[in-house]
Formats: sequence, C-alpha cells, structure tokens
Amino acid sequence: MKRTILSILAVMTALVCAASCSDPLKDGVVDLTPNNPGGGTEQPGGGDGGNEGGGNTGNQEFQYPAGYDFVHPCALVTADDIARVKTSVASANASDPVYVSYQNFCKSPYAVASYKASPVETIVRGDATGTGVSGENYGNIMRDASAAYQLALRWKISGETKYADASVAVLNAWADKCKKITANDNNQYLCAGFQGYTLGNAAELLRDYEGWASNDQNDFKTWLRTVWVAKNEWFVDNKGGSGTCDLHYWSNWELANLASLMAIGIYLEDVALVNKVYRNFREGTGSGAINNMIPYDPIPDPSGHGMIAQSMESGRDQGHGTLVISMCAELCQMAWNLGIDFWGMEDNKVLAMCQYTAKYNVKPTGTYICTTMPFTPYSYCQPGCGCNNQSHGAEHTVVSEAGRGTIRPGWDLIYSHYKYEKNCSDDEVYYVKLFAEQLRYTNGSLTGDGGSGDSRYGSASGAFDQIGWGTMMFYKGE
Ligand SMILES: [Zn+2]
Ligand SMILES: [Zn+2]
Repeated sequence: MKRTILSILAVMTALVCAASCSDPLKDGVVDLTPNNPGGGTEQPGGGDGGNEGGGNTGNQEFQYPAGYDFVHPCALVTADDIARVKTSVASANASDPVYVSYQNFCKSPYAVASYKASPVETIVRGDATGTGVSGENYGNIMRDASAAYQLALRWKISGETKYADASVAVLNAWADKCKKITANDNNQYLCAGFQGYTLGNAAELLRDYEGWASNDQNDFKTWLRTVWVAKNEWFVDNKGGSGTCDLHYWSNWELANLASLMAIGIYLEDVALVNKVYRNFREGTGSGAINNMIPYDPIPDPSGHGMIAQSMESGRDQGHGTLVISMCAELCQMAWNLGIDFWGMEDNKVLAMCQYTAKYNVKPTGTYICTTMPFTPYSYCQPGCGCNNQSHGAEHTVVSEAGRGTIRPGWDLIYSHYKYEKNCSDDEVYYVKLFAEQLRYTNGSLTGDGGSGDSRYGSASGAFDQIGWGTMMFYKGE
C-alpha cells in the first residue's frame, strides 16, 4: 500500500493549538489531541519503524484502548436518547420538535409493523456483469435495513413488541438467505458501508430483545461477519484495492465502511474492529482519516462566525460534500458513545468542516447567505498519486456549485453535540445551527428533520446513505 503518511504527520504535528470550545471532556472520553492521548499511555519512539526521512520525531505511538465499556445500546443512540424521546412523546406538545418528529417518523413506510422483507441471495450494487444477477438489486437491502432500524427504534420508543418482532423477522430473513455482496466494480463497497452500518445499528437496538431467539441472533452475527465485516475490512485495509492511490476513493466511501465497522463492532463487542476504526480515523492513510477528509487547517470565518474548513469533497460537489457531513457526524456519535472523542479531535476540526459546508449550502430564508467561500486548491489523483490510470484526476480551485443546497440529515446531531457537550458559543456553531433550524421545518411547518421514508427524503437512494432522524433522537433545545 502506498504511504502518504509523511504529509499526514506533518499536518497532525502542526495542529496542537488549544481548543476554544472543546472541553470539558466527559468522563472517560479519550482525548485525541495528537501526542496527548489522555485515555492511553504514550510510548517513546519513532512510530512503526517504517518512517522514511526526518521530521517525524514528534510522533509517538498511540496506545489504543484494550477494551471498552459497552453500555448497550451504544451505537448511534443510547438509552438516554431513547428516554428523552419517550418523555417528549408522552408530553405530546405540538411545538416540541422531538414530539412532532416522532409523529412524522411513525408515518414512515419503514416503521410499520406490517413491513415484510425482500431478501436476495446475492446483493449487487454496481456493474452486475458476471455476478449471475441481471442487474443491481441493492434497493432490497437498502429498504430492509432501514426498516429493521426504524422498526427497532419504534419498539424502543413505543414499547410495542410488534415492531421488534417485525424488525427481527427482517434481520432473520436476510441472514437465512443472503450469501454475499458483489459487483463487477467497487460500487459494492458503498452498499457494504451504508447498509452494513444500518444493519449494525438495528441489531444493536434489538440485542436484548427476548423475542430474538439466541440461535437466530448467533446466525445473524455470523452473517454480519462473513458478508459485511469482511467487505468493510477489505476496503479499509486495502483502500479500494490495487491500481489506485490511498486517496482515490473519496471520503464518503471510507467513512461508510468505517461507520459499518464501528456499528457492527459495537454490536459484537469486538474491540479490534472498533480500534481499526479509531486508528484509521485518527491516523490512517485513506480518505476517511480526519486529516485527509479535512485536508487543510481550519481558518477563521471571514464573517466572524467561528472556524471553517473545506472537506476533501467540497470542490467535487455538494451532494457528496453534505454526505461526508452526515456520515462523519453519525460515526463521531457512535465513537462518542463508546468514550472516544472524534468530535473534538484536532481542535474540533469536524466542527469547522460542518460550519464550512453549512455556510455554503444553507438557505435560512430561502436564499443562500454567502457569495464566495475561501478555498485552498486541492489536487485529486494528479500525476504521481499512485493511481495506474489518472484520467479521472482533477484540480479543484473553487468550492463546487454542483448540488448546492443539498439537504441531508445530521444537523441537529451536530448542533446538539457542540452546543451541549462541548459548550460552544453561538458564533462557533453559527452555520450549523442555521442548517439545523432550516431542516426542522418542511414548507414552513414544524416536522423535524427525518430520514428515509419521510416526506422530505422519501425513498430515493440517497435517503438511505445515512440513518438520520436526528431531530427526534438528538434535539435538545434551541
Ligand atoms: Zn485515482
Ligand atoms: Zn490517485
């Protein structure tokens, strides 16, 4: 595998400034500030011994935790999150975004007890040539994984076991029938990421449901490992395979596979999987590593609202630029629920990326709020990058207008985290707040931001890339 680690380390060592709104860290959360791992022990020495050249003497090997306190459920949502929603639902206040969002959630076709699974033996996302399947069929697992999650969540909130039973039936049906994910190209790894991540979260909610027979649950665990984890690990370990550089696949690809490994790792209590995610996010060579996903240091917002930072995909298009936000936010929250602070890493670098992306895409009163965005040129797959074929290379010189205004779930999660866990000021979360506020309303009516199956995101493929339902699960106040 090609190494771009020298440049990454250079960026990491440059970022040791004090956070303005990063503390206090909650008890047990690991401080990911480079060279200051509060939750682990540091060892002197020069990294993995494979360093070339000088300049890395400041890097010390980080000791990843040997275990985690798995307080289930602890993937995307926790028992506290569910308790908060139950309180809101019981209060039935029509001006409470959580209550209104729950009403919207209950209308999702993926959250109804009559839902039936449509499993297939071979999942194809991408070119079906040679797969034995006539064409792409990943829509089946896309919808069913979402249904498994939404039904499990509805059971947790409502207490009605018919939803848990329906969810279990979906998961069992797939584990019984499905043998593999495949394609004649790498698009299959998008499915492995997005849907693996959703399935892991569904299973995590159901893990203690007494109606899920232990032999069925064991079969499901085996299925997750053989069909999903194997794909996710291969993608993360090989960065998409031979003939490409480590940054060829855009951030959202690796983020999705990291999110899947994290969700499934939590469900399986597999520390090695969790630490693989941790290591790849913190110091990996791929596009999902924090300093490749956000390639440049945050800068002060020219309008005076905190810090901003472009992402690797900001110059590509905003459909993907916003996908990075949703994937990254949900990944950060899963890590947080285990006591790992991706959110605060590198002086809240993720917040700066969210602020940048929000500022460019948000329309608080129906119109954009900025005409120009700072942008540092970004070279994608240029000569010397390590890709065999560089015909797809690009030089980004400005933020991309393509897909500007794209909405995706996640902004209430981001806002609540930085506002209520990191105690950020209004300026520091200014654009994130605007986007969260925009999404709580649909055509002027309070609906709460939802996810797949709601009136806003519907059943288009992009609605299933992330889990969503952030207003319902994470809204904690204005
Ligand atoms: Zn390339
Ligand atoms: Zn390349």
